[in-house]
Amino acid sequence: MKYEAVIGLEVHAQLSTGSKIFCGCSTAFGSEPNTQTCPVCTGMPGVLPVLNKKAIQYIVMTGLAMHCTIAPLSRFARKNYFYPDLPKGYQISQYDRPLCEHGYLDVSTEDGGPRRIGITRVHLEEDAGKNIHDAGGPHSLVDLNRTGVPLMEIVSEPDLRSPEEAGQYMRKVRAIVRYIGVCDGNMQEGSLRCDANVSLRPVGSTELGTKVEVKNLNSFRFVERALRYEIKRQMRVLDQGGVIVQETRLYDTQNNVTESMRSKEEAHDYRYFPEPDLVPVKVDEAWVRELKDGLPELPEQKAARFVSEYGLGEEEAGQLAAERPTAEWFQAVVAEGAEPVAAANWVIGELARRLNETGTSIEDCPVSPANLAGLLKMVAAETISLKVAKDVFQEMFISGREPEDIVSEKGLTQISDSAELEGMVDDVIAGNAEAVERYRGGEQKLMGFFVGAVMKLTR
Ligand code: ADP
Ligand code: ZN
Ligand code: MG
Repeated sequence: MKYEAVIGLEVHAQLSTGSKIFCGCSTAFGSEPNTQTCPVCTGMPGVLPVLNKKAIQYIVMTGLAMHCTIAPLSRFARKNYFYPDLPKGYQISQYDRPLCEHGYLDVSTEDGGPRRIGITRVHLEEDAGKNIHDAGGPHSLVDLNRTGVPLMEIVSEPDLRSPEEAGQYMRKVRAIVRYIGVCDGNMQEGSLRCDANVSLRPVGSTELGTKVEVKNLNSFRFVERALRYEIKRQMRVLDQGGVIVQETRLYDTQNNVTESMRSKEEAHDYRYFPEPDLVPVKVDEAWVRELKDGLPELPEQKAARFVSEYGLGEEEAGQLAAERPTAEWFQAVVAEGAEPVAAANWVIGELARRLNETGTSIEDCPVSPANLAGLLKMVAAETISLKVAKDVFQEMFISGREPEDIVSEKGLTQISDSAELEGMVDDVIAGNAEAVERYRGGEQKLMGFFVGAVMKLTR
């Protein structure tokens, strides 16, 4: 039988607030264990949470960027479960009244056209701590620094159809949250991770099959690989007449397999109920409008504008728009008067290569947008050749100096006045009578000698 994969992602993104969601503890990554804790986030009896407004602001911004409806009234709920990294015995999350619902993102599909991926909801919750089992010794350790760090969960509809689409969707989510500055998108540090849900169904069927949830994937590659493995595994089970068990699985990155972790829990297992220690959240309409107006141009719109306004190819435009600092750097070069297509080629080509080689971020680029524009203007005016421009650029990258200075200091100006050049050519011919004779006699390779002589003369 031919099957179709049905995939829905639950992406968890850590919000880049300075303090935790319900207390004033720092959210900084990498500190000594249990140094960023207080009675509230360690769940001492009798303490009360106080909501961080920034967390609400960030999630509303995300909802807006993903075309969601912002609920004027939402509330928190307790999700009850026991685990050593959760001292309260419950996680404060949102359940029946999330802040953002009914959004979408578009992904491009293999057959070319875009597909709209529905976003069911974006809600706010607190992170749990971290259990450390491999510290050596016969015990496990618990670090509560992360407890109470604000997370948002972005839940998609089961609208994705392949591991590649899922990877692409997740890249888009990352690009957006980084653009609007609500999450640093650092996947190694766990700021962005996802649970991938996947089921199979016969091609043509509209019913959903039984799904499996693969937990805690922290790279695009792992999302794609885990899904590829899981699709194959389910296919094998179904082809052998078996049934898929609804369960939670873990992806083993070493061996590239998924393994059963536990049977799937149901919502009622968590005994959700409205959080009695927090009032419902009322989001003011005027504030939402203000946040909406304050959103930057997003990667997709930016890329489209680079195509229509600057005449860039779609691929270059997408590449430039993907990261905000790069996009803004490129725009600054254009604003300084450089021709956009040339500017795009240099930013994607020469500049990206040098940044890469030296491990420099574009924010710390030694070349300023104005100086690159200056260089490109000299190329456009034929003051210097493209080849010389590349050498000058190397120099600019090392010293941060202005291209005009480097060019005039080294006498790299290209002579485009043909009368001046012809005069020099005549001099070379006159001064090398013997070579000219030999050339006339058929020694064509002497042309290189003449060119060299003229180059020497023109420096
Ligand atoms: P649960 O109750 O198990 O949390 P949800 O309905 O809340 O399930 O969905 C969680 C995620 O799983 C969503 O991203 C959703 O799109 C996806 N999903 C739901 N059903 C399926 C299915 N049959 N196949 C693949 N993904 C699914
Ligand atoms: Zn605290
Ligand atoms: Mg769910």
